[in-house]
Amino acid sequence: PATTEPGHNLTTSVQQIDARHHLHPFTDTAALNRRGARVMVRGEGVYLWDSEGNKILDGMAGLWCVNLGYGRRELIDAAKTQLEELPYYNNFFQTTTAPAAVLAQEIASVTPGDLNHIFFANSGSEAVDTLMRMIRHYWTLEGQPQKTLLISRDNAYHGSTIGGTSLGGMTPMHRQGGPFLPDIEHIRQPYWYGEGDGLSEAEFGLKAAAALEERILQLGPERVAAFVGEPIQGAGGVIMPPAGYWQEIQRICRKYDILLAADEVICGFGRTGSWFGSQTLGIEPDLMSMAKGLSSGYMPISAVAVGDRVASSLIEKGGEFYHGFTYSGHPVAAAVAIANIRTMKQEKIVEYVADDIGPYFQQRLRQILAEHPLVGHIEGIGLIAGIALVKDRARRTFFAETGAAGQICRDHCFENNLIMRAVGDRMVLSPPLIISRDEVDELCQKVRTCFDLTLKSVREQGL
Ligand code: PLP
Repeated sequence: PATTEPGHNLTTSVQQIDARHHLHPFTDTAALNRRGARVMVRGEGVYLWDSEGNKILDGMAGLWCVNLGYGRRELIDAAKTQLEELPYYNNFFQTTTAPAAVLAQEIASVTPGDLNHIFFANSGSEAVDTLMRMIRHYWTLEGQPQKTLLISRDNAYHGSTIGGTSLGGMTPMHRQGGPFLPDIEHIRQPYWYGEGDGLSEAEFGLKAAAALEERILQLGPERVAAFVGEPIQGAGGVIMPPAGYWQEIQRICRKYDILLAADEVICGFGRTGSWFGSQTLGIEPDLMSMAKGLSSGYMPISAVAVGDRVASSLIEKGGEFYHGFTYSGHPVAAAVAIANIRTMKQEKIVEYVADDIGPYFQQRLRQILAEHPLVGHIEGIGLIAGIALVKDRARRTFFAETGAAGQICRDHCFENNLIMRAVGDRMVLSPPLIISRDEVDELCQKVRTCFDLTLKSVREQGL
């Protein structure tokens, strides 16, 4: 049985089994096996405990998903009750379940605009694949089957299925497991601090958005189906788009009759201080994918919210849509997601992020870190932030070998019982939305300590 008592041999026994049989996602398995995976055993609020009894502050809410924190009774009880009542039934052909129907209604109650029609899947990647098929199917139904091209951005993350990898813009992923899907185009990302072209932030935002219009005109607007983007690029390092960027992207999409899809897998469910990142950034998408915070990560579940324009075509003209998953709208996952959304509403979590803890977190991060010799730039909103580690902050020079400093920093965090992710040399944070002010202070102080240690290591190693 799992225990947090120090000295129990759980750690080594799990590590041995893990090394023999478990292929980890996004992991250098050989390197992990040499050092042994840390065995996580318990969680409460914003804290985790490992099998050695260490108490760890989770600055990432798991993988950007445990928005209500660990150990929430409401979510656990919802799963238990539903498991006892009806652990599984599907939504194919002629049946539905109360949890699936009610969850669709709950999601529609918080989505912006007319995004009132909900298709369920299990992961962000599946939601993105669903989005891609739905968009192309829509244009065929509208008598424009040549509209197949999807445009996304460099360094975008849209999951790791063939569809998600093809749509995403991550070079290391494109080097493995291809060939990928045709008819997908990438334009530059709106990364002002890293690539600003010597322009002001606002000017650069317009230039990065203009890349969309240029590409559409190169390809022919009659062939372009949709632009898909994360409101804030998350897994790519928390890249905040300059003000005005999304308004320009939206203007261009409308001008050429191109659908706009927001991948809200990270930004959704309160992370940015609105229910969805689209609301924070003033985007009115035709479709949205969502996952992670939908169930606070307690169960795998994802969804695509579809606006009236696309939904009415699918419903009125489409007949059967040959797409779906055995577990689309799984009743236990749906019951947990309902409890999650209702708890968020009752506890006014979105308001808490927007008006209280989000601004406090952003302010404390800057107070404690902005002058640190390693910190080039801090960006973020609500409870998501990215911090660029640089070699020379005055001259804005990055480290010669991208990723080495980030990895050192991530390792110092891990050793000091803080979970913070590195994306190249950008350190990212996305704590549970229920984090308190005292816990934000603790988080920022721990980050500071780890940045000091990183600076020392970086200097010792001559990076
Ligand atoms: N889309 C975005 C924007 C994401 O951030 C992620 C995961 O981080 C995904 C899709 C893929 O989600 P999943 O890992 O659940 O397949």
